[in-house]
Amino acid sequence: MSISRDIATIEANVLIIGGGFGGIWTALRASEIADKVVLVDKAFVSRSGASTMSGGVTNAPMDEDDLQTWVDEIVVRGSYMCNQDWTWQLLKLQRERIRDFERWGVPIVRDADGRIKRFLSRGMVTVRCLQYNPKKAMEILRARALAQGVRILDRLFITDLLTTDGRYPTRGAVAGAVGFNTRSGERVVVRSRTTVIATGMTSMKGTHRVDNTTGDGMAMGYRAGGRLCDLEFGFGGTFTHLMKDYSFTNYNVSVAHGARLINRHGERFMEQYDPVRFERSELARVVAAFTKEIVEGRGPVYVDLRHVDPSYWDNLHAVSVSKGRNILLAGILPDPRAHPLPIEPTWGLWNGSRSGLKIDIDCHTTVPGLFAVGSAAKNDATGTHASAGMPTAYCYTTGYRAGETAAREALESDLPLVEQPAVEMLLQGAMAPLDRPAGALTVDQIHDRLATLEASVVDSVRLSAGRLELFASVAAEMRAAVDKTKALDVHDLVKLHEARNLAECALLVYQSSLDRTESREQFYREDYPNTDDDAWFCWHGVTRGERGEPIFDRERIPLENFAMQPPHPYKGRSPIAAMMDGTFDPAHFT
Ligand SMILES: Cc1cc2nc3c(=O)[nH]c(=O)nc-3n(C[C@H](O)[C@H](O)[C@H](O)COP(=O)(O)OP(=O)(O)OC[C@H]3O[C@@H](n4cnc5c(N)ncnc54)[C@H](O)[C@@H]3O)c2cc1C
Repeated sequence: MSISRDIATIEANVLIIGGGFGGIWTALRASEIADKVVLVDKAFVSRSGASTMSGGVTNAPMDEDDLQTWVDEIVVRGSYMCNQDWTWQLLKLQRERIRDFERWGVPIVRDADGRIKRFLSRGMVTVRCLQYNPKKAMEILRARALAQGVRILDRLFITDLLTTDGRYPTRGAVAGAVGFNTRSGERVVVRSRTTVIATGMTSMKGTHRVDNTTGDGMAMGYRAGGRLCDLEFGFGGTFTHLMKDYSFTNYNVSVAHGARLINRHGERFMEQYDPVRFERSELARVVAAFTKEIVEGRGPVYVDLRHVDPSYWDNLHAVSVSKGRNILLAGILPDPRAHPLPIEPTWGLWNGSRSGLKIDIDCHTTVPGLFAVGSAAKNDATGTHASAGMPTAYCYTTGYRAGETAAREALESDLPLVEQPAVEMLLQGAMAPLDRPAGALTVDQIHDRLATLEASVVDSVRLSAGRLELFASVAAEMRAAVDKTKALDVHDLVKLHEARNLAECALLVYQSSLDRTESREQFYREDYPNTDDDAWFCWHGVTRGERGEPIFDRERIPLENFAMQPPHPYKGRSPIAAMMDGTFDPAHFT
């Protein structure tokens, strides 16, 4: 098929890049206030991204809940490293979004009396979640957005943001974006009054269930001058059956219904690390305990579903997406109700909103004209720990808030001017890989090489300067390889831009991890096993310097503005370091 060399120009009040829960909620709210709301997605809104493929668990505050107790728990579990105003805002806005879901007929799991069935969120003893069908939810939201006049452009890959001065990083403002159609190759320029990044998380291709969340928005925002924050907390994961083609979904729901983890000897090992929440503990602690069982020869680890509440099985079919890949639904094993299943965590780049573009309470990034929502934004509501259901709650609520702010500000501003030569340079750069000679690697080899960095859960959990420097050197090498790699067709071109963004984000994650010379909650370095509040109780940012170099900063958390105060500065073993060296005392780490 020949590749189009046409250029289309579109004008928008609000441009939203990415159509998962974050982007679609932005579009829904913005289109209540302004016209010309344009939502673009490199794939197809409602069929791509993490939202559609997620476990369908979201935080579910309701009218009868005392939100103060929820805020208390979220702030303490997040080590006080959040913006407590955001925590309140999230819970209040989320309560309204749940009502919207009910009114719009999103299928939510209910109890025998027809009431929404809620269960404890992993990591929590107060905060509760509900479960719904995420794919159906996305389809309903897409239909509503179209009905409200949102212009949805599927299959438009955004490669870079436009800036008013044509500089990267800009000293001006963001003024839209450029990209190309992933089928025809037609190039597109979107000039916009406000621009919202909603491109989701950063994760390697092929390591989790979602293959196209390659950190595009985080990388684009960073290149344009946006500040990324707490990148080293961007490690996370999910669970797979030991036959790697099958995932074990949904860990969070199963443990809320009584599933246990046991080692080869049948021992419930989480008891020693969290005698209150057991397997519902923070994911990082579960994965660290898992790793220890494997390293010390007590693996494999099994999930034991023999004790789960029967309602777990009833709801499995109703809410699961990708049934053929779900080990419980694939029908290839003896009855999982009677036989424990061997599983393993994946652990690697999976920021799921703990890290990302730093935003304020109205979702502005640090660059004028640019907003960020969902997993592309740093989750300021929760700090170091995002309990189950929190990432999607952050998508709905940042989306709602950003939609409102971006639309209002668009109506008050003129269409920003852009430098035409800079636009042409971006368009040319986007298509250049189609015209260059073949390099030493193919784009698939670049993605494979990046993904091998996460091949070992043991290495990914036990970080150290040596491992991080090795990871960083591979990421830098792959970033350089991108510029020498040919795209054979438009499909290759998509993957090449994804590799560029992924390598840039990965490099920044490893560099941020090297810069943080301590361990803290889920972030663990073997060579710096202690937590050091004096030096590191802060938001850890990185921005791009004029020569492309990363500039790290530490922003003081303004505790004086918030009601809840941490007890005292802590200096000592981090919980995961203590788990690893055998000094863990559950009384010390609640
Ligand atoms: C397997 C899995 C299970 C999960 N389960 C849960 C759960 O049960 N509960 C929970 O709270 N969280 C869960 N999470 C996390 C949660 O799903 C995500 O945090 C959330 O869905 C992110 O939504 P988003 O709108 O930010 O991004 P996404 O839903 O990923 O949407 C981003 C969209 O942007 C598009 N895009 C990306 N780059 C570009 C570009 N360059 N140009 C144009 N478009 C682009 C993509 O195609 C995609 O459609 C899970 C995550 C995974 C991976």
